[in-house]
Amino acid sequence: MGTELKPEQLLADALGELKAVRAEMLQLALPLHGQMYPSHNDHAELTGHDRENLLIGEVLQKISDDHAKRGETDATIRADLGVIEQFIREKKIVTLGHATT
Ligand SMILES: [Zn+2]
Repeated sequence: MGTELKPEQLLADALGELKAVRAEMLQLALPLHGQMYPSHNDHAELTGHDRENLLIGEVLQKISDDHAKRGETDATIRADLGVIEQFIREKKIVTLGHATT
């Protein structure tokens, strides 16, 4: 107990290694961000890494906060993060240490 990383931590670790594919991560985060924060106008006022960091960070924060408020389980969070995890696996960027049983 206590040694298993939470999915959001796994994702945060993975994102730290995603510098080479930031643009692709942005494409993944953009539609989610648009649904979560329709008033943000996709931060068109920003460019480059500032925009990428903000968009991706807000999406991850929103997912994490929503589930924490509802007291949902890591498994549920993982379901929401599945698309991002799949992306990471497909790109073979990092091996996520999920237990399979
Ligand atoms: Zn935003």
